[in-house]
Amino acid sequence: MSEKDQPASISIVVPVYNEAAGLAKFNDSLVDVLKRNHISNFEIIYCDDGSQDNTAELIRSWNVKNPRFKLLSLSRNFGKESALTAGISLAKGEVIVTIDGDGQHPVELLPEFIVEWQKGSKVVVGIRLTNDGAGWFKTWGSKLFYNLFNHLTGQRLEPGSSDYRLIDQTVRHEFLKLKESDRITRGLIDWLGFNRSYIYFHAKVREAGEVGYGKRQLIKLATNTFVSLSPKPLYMFGYLGVIITGLSLIVGLAVLFEQVLLGDPLAWKFTGTAMLSIMLLFLIGIVLMSQGILSLYVSNIQAQSKRRPLFVIDYDKSAGYKNNDVN
Ligand code: UDP
Ligand code: MG
Repeated sequence: MSEKDQPASISIVVPVYNEAAGLAKFNDSLVDVLKRNHISNFEIIYCDDGSQDNTAELIRSWNVKNPRFKLLSLSRNFGKESALTAGISLAKGEVIVTIDGDGQHPVELLPEFIVEWQKGSKVVVGIRLTNDGAGWFKTWGSKLFYNLFNHLTGQRLEPGSSDYRLIDQTVRHEFLKLKESDRITRGLIDWLGFNRSYIYFHAKVREAGEVGYGKRQLIKLATNTFVSLSPKPLYMFGYLGVIITGLSLIVGLAVLFEQVLLGDPLAWKFTGTAMLSIMLLFLIGIVLMSQGILSLYVSNIQAQSKRRPLFVIDYDKSAGYKNNDVN
């Protein structure tokens, strides 16, 4: 890429949680790509999501040498989605690239994202083709997730969509208006629309450190996505209730005629207790399931009504930011 067709400035937002082991390598390769492509007006915002290792110290030491490396320290672990939002909210660049700090997103593709932006895309989405080292749970879970998501929400989320993305300042501006909690950044950016294009990549094996998103968090993220974007699960259980009530009514009537009115000519020998218990179990199951779903919605409403900020920045621990930077 030549110097003249570059964006005026570029912000790279990297959420990091206990990444000290591999971060220097990631940072070096990122800087290398920027240098090779003559991108000199950049800022790299590392959002430290409450790491317990020395991730923050490492970044602070880079900031001392070069203020283009910035450390945004959250006051505790808020999760990747909030860390990303925090970084995006402070990104000043004409284009903003979000990328994982564990080396799984290939930094060498960065120029391709910019080329797509130059061609007129306001959102460029990195699509993961394979994920080396992901177990069956992640591989199949993510397949199921994208299928369900597209069916339930009516929105199109490209399978394999990752948080390796480029967004334009215009998109950032609109993104920051979305204040909902329990969010999934990818889903929100997709919801916003705008011209988009896709870049396909093979996810690499994590360089070092541990996966911060365990099975539990992934399941929580997936459920949150459905609950916050679609009320359809609520209707589904309504339909199920109608079907089961209908079926039990038919069975009940059949038994009433066969056994009570006609004196059991087919010799079903249904005892009243057997029937009653089957019906009760069915109905109790339904009630419990719908209650479970309802509680998801209620907890979503509850989180929303608290209107808590999505993240809290510890400015004393940050480097390159002042108290009044976020607005
Ligand atoms: N991450 C974060 N907060 C967390 C967990 C993860 O900021 O609570 C960061 C992590 O440091 C990495 C990115 O989010 O840069 C992706 O996390 P991870 O590699 O654990 O997830 P996966 O690769 O499975 O999506
Ligand atoms: Mg990873």
